[in-house]
Amino acid sequence: MEEVGTGLLDRLDAMQRVAASAPGGPMLIVAGPGTGKTRTLTHRIAYLCAELNVFPERCLAITFTRRAAEELRARLDGLLGPVAEDVTVATFHSLGLTILRENAKAAGLPAAFRIADDTERAEIRAEAGTDDLAYAKLLRARDLVDLDELVSLPVRVLRDDPALVRRYRDRWSWIFVDEYQDVDATQYELLRLLSPPDGNLCAIGDPDQAIYSFRGADVTYFLRFSQDFVDARLVRLTRNYRSSAPILAAAVQAIAPSSLVRGRRLDPARLDLEAPLVGLYPAGSVADEADFVVRTVDDLVGGLSHRSMDAGRADGRTSTVSFADIAVLYRTDAQAAPIVDALHRAGVPVQKRSHNRLRDRPGVAAIARELRHADGLSGSLAARVRLTGQVLAERFSAPTLDATGGVGPDDIWSAVEVLTPLARRCGDDLPAFLGQLATGAEVDALDPRAEAVTLLTLHAAKGLEFPVVFLVGCEDGLLPLRFPGTDNDDEQVAEERRLFFVGMTRAQDRLYLSHSRRRLRHGRDADCVPTPFLSAIDAGLLERLGESEPRRPKDRQLRLL
Ligand code: ATP
Ligand code: MG
Repeated sequence: MEEVGTGLLDRLDAMQRVAASAPGGPMLIVAGPGTGKTRTLTHRIAYLCAELNVFPERCLAITFTRRAAEELRARLDGLLGPVAEDVTVATFHSLGLTILRENAKAAGLPAAFRIADDTERAEIRAEAGTDDLAYAKLLRARDLVDLDELVSLPVRVLRDDPALVRRYRDRWSWIFVDEYQDVDATQYELLRLLSPPDGNLCAIGDPDQAIYSFRGADVTYFLRFSQDFVDARLVRLTRNYRSSAPILAAAVQAIAPSSLVRGRRLDPARLDLEAPLVGLYPAGSVADEADFVVRTVDDLVGGLSHRSMDAGRADGRTSTVSFADIAVLYRTDAQAAPIVDALHRAGVPVQKRSHNRLRDRPGVAAIARELRHADGLSGSLAARVRLTGQVLAERFSAPTLDATGGVGPDDIWSAVEVLTPLARRCGDDLPAFLGQLATGAEVDALDPRAEAVTLLTLHAAKGLEFPVVFLVGCEDGLLPLRFPGTDNDDEQVAEERRLFFVGMTRAQDRLYLSHSRRRLRHGRDADCVPTPFLSAIDAGLLERLGESEPRRPKDRQLRLL
């Protein structure tokens, strides 16, 4: 635990300090990537509790993923010590679940209600046909709720019960929302119920990183915050501490044509003159692009084992890059396969996560169901997950794929790999683990300490940072993504550009952009051109990388750490 009190704000810059130490009332922190929004948020909570005598149990911090919530919790623990446990840190789903559990009766649910799993949803869908009302009724008849209802049902209960609203407003009189640009209408309504218009609601975000409109998120809630919450204090943070100056300059140019922030400013705090430019690799094919990633990973990490042998690389530079420092980002999950294969062949460990719901991943529902019914299993939760996987993989290798709903043993093993870090973090709490399987995203199961290269969809990468980032598939039609036979409207293109911006700004020290001249798209091998987003970036910030030496990664075994 750090020293609480006077020193608490020392690690913030002047504007961050203004935000962290502001008095109560509505506050909007508008700031670009890497400006320390999340850092400011944790310091604000710590400051309020340590200096202004706000009770930690009065604080509710809301994030978008369980992974982000855990990170927030860890940072608060570091700042506040054990009392940090009294702060409620939640995702919208887990917050909704808490409110529903406390008010099951009012919501028309039995105390023992559960979130429907995949199979149950499919069965009920089939039975209900296209009739939504029947769907909800059938769910209720089986004491189930659907994931989407975790926010909408609490909203309905609160709307009908002003006394209950008052109780929650008393309980959580300080509310903080990170990534506010991605709230949707129902989440917004829940916030309006939980916080009065002049309440201590602190919303933090960046409209230029709004990337979830396909799930109903609506950046206009961010833009009209000051109308909905009266006398809102507005704080802007403009110093970026994350990225090297060339990376930041390139990213700012890339977003400029669509920026939603008037007078957007982002100044680099890092002025290292030696910083490498943004690498740009035009690949001849998807295989060539994957080779480029492997070659570069080898070059960067290879230096480490060199160093341990002779305290320096052949070129005299020292490298401290490890696999855990490296992320490969892409627009669509399908792009991961050739890169995962190439990294595997080179002996590089990987962890791959998307932004999709965990329960939508093949194998996860089967494991969840088996765990729920197998009370007799002993051992740690992680061990039980592995054992269950083993049993299911054996069982699923015997029947036809038809009988298993298309799920094979490989799906089961890959689900076990994803679920294991999550299970470890849940200790022995099976209900908590099952709750996370029902509500969480794949990226929640990211293991930040894993000594592996991380592969993520751009959506899943939000809020994260890595010393080395590859942004692959920078091609027209892929980023911006376009479906055959359709044209994107301006707003869709703008959102794709924001995704490009989010991807670029995950990088701290090195950023590589690559595109391929050919790619299999919608079942056809197609010619591809680079994304038009690249043309917004000054050529002087880009370093064109060629196929340097004809060295093939498979000729050389990658040295593992
Ligand atoms: P994003 O929009 O991507 O979520 P963010 O604004 O939340 O970004 P943070 O993740 O809080 O940014 O901070 C980015 C990085 O900058 C982190 O590594 C953080 O520790 C560092 N940082 C933030 N503020 C400072 C500061 N005042 N001094 C030194 N480092 C800082
Ligand atoms: Mg953040």
